[in-house]
Amino acid sequence: MLGLYVHVPFCSAICNYCNFNRGLFDAALKDRYVDALVAEIAEAGPQGHDGQDRREGQERPDGRDGPLNWWTGGADPADTIYFGGGTPSLLEPDEVGRIIEACESSFAVAPDPEITLEANPETVTMPKLAAFRQAGVNRLSFGVQSFRDTDLRRLSRLHSADRARLAVAEARAAGFDNISLDLMMWLPQQSVSEWLESVDQAVALGPEHLSLYLLELYPNAPLKDEMARARWSQAPDEDAATMYLTAMERLEDAGYEQYEISNVARPGRRSRHNLKYWTDGDWLGFGCGAHSTRDGVRWKNLASTEEYVSRIGRRESTAIDIRRLAADERLGDALFTGLRLNDGIDLSAIQARYGVDVWRRYGGELDGFVHQGYLRHEGARLRLTRPGMLLAHEVMAVFV
Ligand code: SF4
Repeated sequence: MLGLYVHVPFCSAICNYCNFNRGLFDAALKDRYVDALVAEIAEAGPQGHDGQDRREGQERPDGRDGPLNWWTGGADPADTIYFGGGTPSLLEPDEVGRIIEACESSFAVAPDPEITLEANPETVTMPKLAAFRQAGVNRLSFGVQSFRDTDLRRLSRLHSADRARLAVAEARAAGFDNISLDLMMWLPQQSVSEWLESVDQAVALGPEHLSLYLLELYPNAPLKDEMARARWSQAPDEDAATMYLTAMERLEDAGYEQYEISNVARPGRRSRHNLKYWTDGDWLGFGCGAHSTRDGVRWKNLASTEEYVSRIGRRESTAIDIRRLAADERLGDALFTGLRLNDGIDLSAIQARYGVDVWRRYGGELDGFVHQGYLRHEGARLRLTRPGMLLAHEVMAVFV
């Protein structure tokens, strides 16, 4: 089934390390943007936004015969909707509801969909969260990043640790039983013990899911200058490795299962939407800068919010970089992303889908990683060990 991604590019302030497609909140632009999103989603359905059947007389983008809606000739099945950003919780609940309804009109949304909304702690209140729940959102992903106020100030985040704890409590009170928290490690001046303190505090709140990311400093990040001025530094690489490995051990001890390099979940609470990215699935992205992959065709929407809204208003396509992936590229992507999972890659499934014996093709280069204990090759499975996850990029480079 398809995953549907909805991008919301607005933020109350721009964090000093952020490299996402986002801009400052502008109420008037946001109103026009929500209308544009609803129109884009309507256009992707079998009836288009004007009620006309879009399949008539159109060619399929994949070049095969048969009707287009896109591909299946009816409302396509989807089972996840993911509001990412930016800060989707800056939308009003009725706006989120309109977008969910647009998805339900254009796609055959499964009866038990996973509908996730990314939220920043300072943007929510109990009534607003209850209204999101009422609108159909059933999973929240809070961008907490740290439970130490010093870290949060260095990252120019707008919330405090207490505000994050309150947001989780409010979400529970509003009826959410599926909550994920994002945490970032290897922050400026952060010690291993300070990082683990944040992990412990996250666990104490009992979220169903946690995502742990290493802070990445992109070349022009304002945080880089701030670090230079304040003489802040990141801990040595060995400490970053200890942060990651120790956190994963603690989370396992607390009953979480690691299922992907950066993600752990209580049993049955893995992110169904994100799993589509890692299991060679198909998804459609709506909104500025959103990416889509379907039946071996990949494209993205143009990044500018203004331009996106204008083009939708003129009923022009917003898709750019549309291209059919070459067979080797699809295979490389399937291997690259599959290796992120703790379950690793099912080599017999890859052989059935792509007709390639992965070990025969890449075994010579992968064998060294197996002998060093970074990779396991067991039967038809190929998977990274936890120490291997620290070297994931080097192992994955074999497939590129
Ligand atoms: S809230 Fe998230 S998307 Fe917005 S600026 Fe901060 S890190 Fe970037």
